[in-house]
Amino acid sequence: MAKTVCIRNADWVVAWDEAGQRHAYLQGGDVAFTDNAIAFVGKRYQGAADETVDGRGLLVMPGLIDVHAHPGHEASYRGIREEHGVPELFMTGLFERSCAYSLDDEGKLACVEAACCELLLSGVTTLVDISAIYPGWVDLIAKSGIRGVLAPSYASSRWVVRRPHLLEYEWNEAAGRRGFEEALKLCDQLAKHPSGRLSGLVSPAQIDTCTEDLLRDSVAAARERGLPFTVHCAQAVGEFNEMVRRHGITPVQWAHQLGLTGPGTIFGHGIFVDEHSWLRWWSRKDIAIMAETGTSIAHSPTPFARYGQTLQDFGKYRRAGVNIGMGTDTVPQNMLEEMRWATVLARISAEDIRSTEMAEVFHAATVGGARGLMRDDLGRLRPGAKADLVLVDLKNPWMMPVRDPLRSLIFHAADRAVKDVYVDGRQVVQNGRVLALDRAGALERLAEGQRRMEKDVPKHDPMGRRSEQITPLSLSVLP
Ligand SMILES: [Zn+2]
Repeated sequence: MAKTVCIRNADWVVAWDEAGQRHAYLQGGDVAFTDNAIAFVGKRYQGAADETVDGRGLLVMPGLIDVHAHPGHEASYRGIREEHGVPELFMTGLFERSCAYSLDDEGKLACVEAACCELLLSGVTTLVDISAIYPGWVDLIAKSGIRGVLAPSYASSRWVVRRPHLLEYEWNEAAGRRGFEEALKLCDQLAKHPSGRLSGLVSPAQIDTCTEDLLRDSVAAARERGLPFTVHCAQAVGEFNEMVRRHGITPVQWAHQLGLTGPGTIFGHGIFVDEHSWLRWWSRKDIAIMAETGTSIAHSPTPFARYGQTLQDFGKYRRAGVNIGMGTDTVPQNMLEEMRWATVLARISAEDIRSTEMAEVFHAATVGGARGLMRDDLGRLRPGAKADLVLVDLKNPWMMPVRDPLRSLIFHAADRAVKDVYVDGRQVVQNGRVLALDRAGALERLAEGQRRMEKDVPKHDPMGRRSEQITPLSLSVLP
């Protein structure tokens, strides 16, 4: 029996304006959904409802789409990575950290559980989870209730930083091939998952760590299956310089030459394009290549901002026609804060308040992400779309006065005002609590996992250092 839920008389609804192909406010509206699909968005729902939710004092908005996250390990970096960077590698700590820190499988499960709580509580209903395969991963994502796009990641080489100024690669092409085959097998299984909420994404790890053949075969496998494709590309200056050294052209141009660009392709993170001020490169083609081919970028400003880097800039990319989706990449896995960062940093980069409006970033975090994933049934409240929605408490003090609810939410309240979340028509967050997961328990287990990971750092770090040497505490500790 189909079940219909109607949210009646919501003070505000972020509704989909079909004619304008954009979000618009609806005041005093009803939103009804039957099973997992939205049935009605408008002034007054006339049909029958099995369950009615009083919408007074609430904002109803579409669930957010996180197109780039690593929930299986990033939360284990809390306290470790916020101020970690390597100046000799143009500030990024990515390469050094990935050598030295390795969370075990038990830690990963605790990490993904804790991260999924953060994600759901900040209004994320669709999550792209990029990770190497580990036991229990699929079951945990299924259990969380989130719409999971799993991106099993693989590579033909790994980064090694033996000296701070030098990025080296250790190649193992056979391992990359094996990882690719296992990833495809998982993607094919996910398409048949009984929840109907899980799907796969073809995800060779990075443009600089995979062979040309592996990248070509990966994109072909994605296109053949109608799956989206993602690869880290133009995410670091070191990567840019390495690609120029190998091929004489930028990472984006080389990816384009290989046929990796196109609709359904998401570059994480498309920051270091030829005209970025840190590169002093001569060409001016990368942004146009992404725009003309319909390639998306996954924009996750926080980790880069902490290194002193920004996309240059959100508004310029959009005006050029590049599709942008938002991702959380690191902790906090908080899409609402990420949207605030994206808006403000775009203005700092452009030195111009007109560069980027918050509403464009909200569009990216919903419709932009959906487009990147080739899903026009997500990220918008219109009949026929999936019933993925977020109810925001307008009586939360951080929201008041509610002159403009999205401004209150993104510039002020963030996750503090997220009350209820529905994914695929099923409630997954109730009164600020994730129903299917154990946040407190997961965080205790994650703390243990972090301790084990830090203890092992000298074994993994090519320079044999302890974790405290790589990233000291922010204050000295008294004896
Ligand atoms: Zn990433």
